[in-house]
Amino acid sequence: MNLKSILAEILPLHRTLASDDMDKTLEIIGSYMPRQSNYMVESYTPGAPVWTWKVPERYVVHEAYLESETGQRFVDFADNPLHIISYSLPVDQLLPWEELEPHLRYNEKRPWAIPWEFKYYDRSWGFCLAKETFDRMPRDKKYRAVIRSEFLTDPEPGFRVAAGIIHPEGGPVPAAGEMLIQSHTCHPMQANDDAAGVVTAIEVARRLAEKPLPPGSMSVRFWFGPETIGTIAYLAHNEPLIPALRAGIFLEMTGNQSKIAWHHTRQHDDLLDRITQYVLKSTDHEEREFAAAPANDERVLNGPGVNVPCISINRWPYDEYHTTDDNLAIMHEDMLQGAADVAEQIIRIYASNYIPKRTFRGPVFLSGHGLWVDWNENWALNRAIERIMMRFEGQHTIFDIAEQTGLDYWVTREYVEKFRAKGFVEPQPIPSQAHTA
Ligand SMILES: [Zn+2]
Repeated sequence: MNLKSILAEILPLHRTLASDDMDKTLEIIGSYMPRQSNYMVESYTPGAPVWTWKVPERYVVHEAYLESETGQRFVDFADNPLHIISYSLPVDQLLPWEELEPHLRYNEKRPWAIPWEFKYYDRSWGFCLAKETFDRMPRDKKYRAVIRSEFLTDPEPGFRVAAGIIHPEGGPVPAAGEMLIQSHTCHPMQANDDAAGVVTAIEVARRLAEKPLPPGSMSVRFWFGPETIGTIAYLAHNEPLIPALRAGIFLEMTGNQSKIAWHHTRQHDDLLDRITQYVLKSTDHEEREFAAAPANDERVLNGPGVNVPCISINRWPYDEYHTTDDNLAIMHEDMLQGAADVAEQIIRIYASNYIPKRTFRGPVFLSGHGLWVDWNENWALNRAIERIMMRFEGQHTIFDIAEQTGLDYWVTREYVEKFRAKGFVEPQPIPSQAHTA
């Protein structure tokens, strides 16, 4: 599947927090999510309290432009939705330059590009334009600033997010819990931030549907919606889900040509951090502290009252960030797919991991039960057998055992599964760390 072509479909849409184009975006994502993910859109009523926040209104822009009093148009929303500060209040005024200027935003470093800015909560109005356009505007003229915007509070269509879930082979195992994979849909006309994360997440979902996780694994939930407030609104409306969540991955800015950077969980040395290190150990990548800029949805998942360990994966920084230069020209299929490879490997290990708890006493009669490993076949595993068997007391996950014995995770898991098949160990789920209030 070509991820860049999916990205091209959602790129031109006016994807603000809640808007008709956001609905379209969520629909397009749904059309690419695997059928069995049972992808569903949820709507929430604007103004409804969600924890300490409020569900935002739906934003409608009928038209917006900036022209001189003689009718020369310098900026038109119809040309590019970045031309207004997202969630600008309505305005229709004739202003002298001095009064207009505080409402104009440009990017000094990229004078040809239109910056993207937003004022979702502390609202005012403003236009974003190329510095080159700004420089061309005569200072001795008056300007007509027009933004015909509306803020809708109807419960439907309301404020929307969407999610789908991929279960392991054999169906869901509620005791095993879930992983949550997130990417945000809300930056208008921005390719890398974060339409890129969205298509990377779709790719991971498709791979997990095509080659399901082993029986007994966690289910993997894929979430799409506006950043921060979308996650808050979703979790606040689905609180019973929180204790089921074992870990999360926030994916963003995965398509530009830079190496993978990942940010630790708030816990810093959680199982998820160690699995991420294991997956990336022989690759060129950057490792960063929790919430080292930029940080968004992972702060919600890792945050108070939720406390689900969540890493973020991105390819930040990049110069085109939050401008019209963040477009298809800087998107690379191999980068989008490469980020999916990393996320997929982390998910496959984290979600298939469990705590093997012994049911036997004394050293197991290995050859009598077909559990002996010949050193000719696998020297490292042969040497590790005793150390593996000593770690079935309910304190170590398979990943811990692999880490402590220096074995490959999948080799270790396959061997532990043989003990399980004989009834010598019972799988215990990775415990939830989630806060319940
Ligand atoms: Zn952003």
